[in-house]
Amino acid sequence: MPIPYTPPLADIRFILTRLIGLEHLAALPGYEAISLDIVDAVLGEAGKIAAEIFAPLNDAGDRRGARLMNGIVSMPPGFREAYKAFVEGGWNGLPVSETWGGQGLPWSIAMPVQEMLQAANLGLALCTLLNQGAIEAIETHGSEALKQKFLPKLVSGAWTGTMNLTEPQAGSDVGAVRCKAERDGADYRITGQKIFISYGDHDLTENIIHLVLARLPDAPEGTRGLSLFLVPKFLVGDQGTMGAANDVRAVSLEHKLGQHASPTCVMAFGDKRGAIGHLLGAEHGGMAAMFTMMNNARIGVGIQGLGLMERAYQQARDYAKTRVQSRDLAKPKDAPVTIIHHPDVRRMLLWMKAHIEAARALAYSCAFAIDQSRHATDEGPKKAAQTRVDLLTPVIKAWLTDLANEITSMGVQVFGGMGYIEETGAAQPMRDARVLAIYEGTNGIQANDLVFRKLARDDGAALKDLLDEMDQFLPALIKQPGDDFAAMHGHLGNAIESLRASGSWIVKKVKEDAAVAAAVAAPFLRLMGNAVGGYYLCQSALLAQADLASGADDADFLTAKIMTARFYADHVLPQAIALAATVVAGSKTVLAMKESAF
Ligand SMILES: Cc1cc2nc3c(=O)[nH]c(=O)nc-3n(C[C@H](O)[C@H](O)[C@H](O)COP(=O)(O)OP(=O)(O)OC[C@H]3O[C@@H](n4cnc5c(N)ncnc54)[C@H](O)[C@@H]3O)c2cc1C
Repeated sequence: MPIPYTPPLADIRFILTRLIGLEHLAALPGYEAISLDIVDAVLGEAGKIAAEIFAPLNDAGDRRGARLMNGIVSMPPGFREAYKAFVEGGWNGLPVSETWGGQGLPWSIAMPVQEMLQAANLGLALCTLLNQGAIEAIETHGSEALKQKFLPKLVSGAWTGTMNLTEPQAGSDVGAVRCKAERDGADYRITGQKIFISYGDHDLTENIIHLVLARLPDAPEGTRGLSLFLVPKFLVGDQGTMGAANDVRAVSLEHKLGQHASPTCVMAFGDKRGAIGHLLGAEHGGMAAMFTMMNNARIGVGIQGLGLMERAYQQARDYAKTRVQSRDLAKPKDAPVTIIHHPDVRRMLLWMKAHIEAARALAYSCAFAIDQSRHATDEGPKKAAQTRVDLLTPVIKAWLTDLANEITSMGVQVFGGMGYIEETGAAQPMRDARVLAIYEGTNGIQANDLVFRKLARDDGAALKDLLDEMDQFLPALIKQPGDDFAAMHGHLGNAIESLRASGSWIVKKVKEDAAVAAAVAAPFLRLMGNAVGGYYLCQSALLAQADLASGADDADFLTAKIMTARFYADHVLPQAIALAATVVAGSKTVLAMKESAF
């Protein structure tokens, strides 16, 4: 029996309508038509695709996996039909401009749609995530001719896109890429091997558009010598007609811990005469162009983490309500109870729920900032929103995917021994989640990005803006009656102080001794996720309190929002102080230990 998935529509709706505020979204030029009806209709339909079309294929797809036979990758049964339904519904182009056949909807709506699809069937939905990144890279850096030729089919989903960076010697160190590009008339010939390429080949669509980093003969060393090429699986004529097969093929598929349905390919470019590639962006300007795709995908991978956390939570919660084991501590003479009665199981479930809600609020707030950065008319707010997106991107990628590992594992813990047995399906989110902290730039690389680029480059100004906003919000908590908000006020206040102090410390250290900053970049990123996630959760609690006070009819839902934020304040926010202590003191041993002592 496939494991059901229930789209968390009420939680998503609460963030969009209360935390972001649809009126703010509709105030952006181009989004005037956004209304509650549209949001409910889009999310409701997307929820159906996720729950009724994607989710039922998830565990069967995991068991069967993608297969490479006679040079062709075949997807598990049902995947082609599910992808077709997704494309026919126009979902692939949801946030893309109408110019290219998209729906022109905001990221604030597209991101929740992505969450539901990833939660339902990440093995399939990964393909759609890569498409969006490829579209954005071509739209931003492609020539008019390339856009006309490739975007309509990529936007509709008739074709899919891939990203090709990794080679055996070039993983985190992208500058070590050796794939070659040679000029050939107006085009280029690409030769070399790429490894670990997600959806490098499949049978969902008739064509696949690879974005490939390669090096021209006269290119400088390192990342500054990389150029980005658009390499179609089948060549495309000027009228968009499909031509001959290009010189590119999937050589083998990786055998993986999870994500079995997603084909991870070793790709050979140019075994014969060289694969024909079209330049995207400028020669030697490949990294800038690829970063457009990578930034999109980094946030997308964070959303994959969010989706898997939600999936694991739903499974654990449902199991905890049915599995009978042991007696209630308070009623030792009564019959054994379902495990949700045991305090430690409740603690685990709340740990999962509170982190998911904090992560979701953080991610969707960033989606709104993306919308502002693209649609605001005044330069000031536009730039400020982009700065916020830049600051939050590594946090969303790394904090959400570290959490995904922790929380999907906790889901297995709630199941007990049955969680370790594949038949229950509790292990799949955990296996699928493991790579999220690795691909799209490992979380170590994200922590470095946060500290060295996003913090140090502007002397901590972007972080200071966010901290000032958090400080301004804080007093609103103490004005509320009852001890829930007093607890939130105290713990959030400490977390803000911890983040401010360690942020200033780390900005200083980047200049004095980069290794010291790098040694504690990961706990700093964790601290930032902890504090900023708490900020958004406390805002949600405050809004829920206002709704309760005005007599809203979903009192249980709103009360749970306040209690979840209180749990986060008591159990999660206090870690900020400990993390700040680690940031300031922790680099010494990391750097001093002799290699031989490891
Ligand atoms: C299932 C799967 C799908 C993938 N899909 C794609 C894809 O579609 N396209 C693509 O191009 N690639 C893809 N990848 C590759 C992925 O992006 C890389 O695996 C990842 O970037 C890490 O590179 P690596 O594996 O070589 O690890 P390494 O770079 O060897 O890293 C090993 C360890 O060293 C650490 N490390 C390395 N350098 C530094 C540093 N400077 N500072 C701090 N720590 C460092 C890393 O954080 C990590 O912990 C995929 C990988 C997998 C497993």
